[in-house]
Amino acid sequence: MNSSRSYDLVFLGAGCAGLSLLVRLAEAGYLSDKRVLVFEKSPKNLNDRTWCFWEKGDGYFEQLVHHAWGRVAFYSNEFSSDLSLAPYRYKMIRGIDFYRHCMGVLEQYPQVELRYEEVESPHPVPSPCGERERERALVFNSIFDPAKKDPKATHLLQHFKGRVIETEQDFFDPGAATLMDFRVDQRHGTTFAYVLPVSARRALIEYTLFTEKLLQPEEYDRGLDDYLREYLKIGSHKIVEEEFGVIPMTGQSFPFYHQGMYQLGTAGGQTKASSGYTFQFIQKRSEQIAKALIEGRSLWNLSGDPDRFMFYDRVLLDVLAKGYWPGDRVFARLFARNPVQRVFSFLDNESSLKQEWQLISSLPTLPFLRAAAGVMFR
Ligand SMILES: Cc1cc2nc3c(=O)[nH]c(=O)nc-3n(C[C@H](O)[C@H](O)[C@H](O)COP(=O)(O)OP(=O)(O)OC[C@H]3O[C@@H](n4cnc5c(N)ncnc54)[C@H](O)[C@@H]3O)c2cc1C
Repeated sequence: MNSSRSYDLVFLGAGCAGLSLLVRLAEAGYLSDKRVLVFEKSPKNLNDRTWCFWEKGDGYFEQLVHHAWGRVAFYSNEFSSDLSLAPYRYKMIRGIDFYRHCMGVLEQYPQVELRYEEVESPHPVPSPCGERERERALVFNSIFDPAKKDPKATHLLQHFKGRVIETEQDFFDPGAATLMDFRVDQRHGTTFAYVLPVSARRALIEYTLFTEKLLQPEEYDRGLDDYLREYLKIGSHKIVEEEFGVIPMTGQSFPFYHQGMYQLGTAGGQTKASSGYTFQFIQKRSEQIAKALIEGRSLWNLSGDPDRFMFYDRVLLDVLAKGYWPGDRVFARLFARNPVQRVFSFLDNESSLKQEWQLISSLPTLPFLRAAAGVMFR
């Protein structure tokens, strides 16, 4: 490899989206005659997040699945049920397993140069990328700037604190997760807990809100303590790990190509505005991009999900953000009046028009019409 050669690909950010694409390209042999430069600010050696998502069959990172459930429970004050997910399974991948695996793959490719540096701003593309790189390299950015907000769009935050706990006696059913439990206090806005048991004595329990502002740190702890005591009836237990996260839920548009860079992950609009789920959207996009590059096709013609899904997301987001109908009741209606498989395919942007009509008719007309009118005339 000629060291004076300029880079063919530049990645800004090596988190979920950057690594998902890089690993696909590496494993497909696409990088063998390429020079790749990756900027990442932090060594990816912490279990800083846990990804959960539903999927039919096996995914690209199937070997990393830490646990999977075929059944989930949904709870609220007006509807509660155990839901059988087939043909889906709800899966969990731990951040640390994902980072270790991807970095392990990339280490085998000396043409991938990883620089642990903080990029001040993705635009213009940072040094050492001179004019030549800017002109010829494909640049992929996954550094998300939460400060760049479209003032016309609706914005909520999905914020949560989670604890991995261990009980002294067998307590959990590792075959069933709790997807959403809305029985918790709704005074701050849409609030739910979820429980992901990985064994009879170990589970990740999260306390989650969809609201405009973050809570004080002690309020998340209080939410978790109350949930453990009042609903799970768990007494003495050990806290093994904790995580805190904030995911933007926004009706803003994120162009795929912006300022000379292809935008990936949350920065590329891969976070579902109405649910915060991102992992599977990143996988779908990475697969599309990798396929196009390997086949020598332009990235300009990649198709996105149909625009109507963004419209549904904006409407749902407005219902929640403007308080047209309480979030716990919206989700209770969705799960009470539709099979879970229909809800999942809708949230995956993969439902048919008929299924969407069935879902929409299961929701209260007035609050949703009001939000739809607001979105259309904004
Ligand atoms: C705690 C947590 C839990 C989540 N759980 C789920 C879940 O269960 N299911 C789901 O679908 N989604 C989940 N998400 C949402 C989403 O899947 C993740 O945020 C996902 O990591 C997004 O991928 P990304 O590549 O866009 O961003 P990231 O994975 O955050 O990658 C961006 C990378 O850029 C680096 N970076 C940032 N700024 C700079 C800079 N200035 N210079 C250099 N490098 C920089 C970061 O260190 C990071 O490695 C979760 C998010 C969080 C925070």
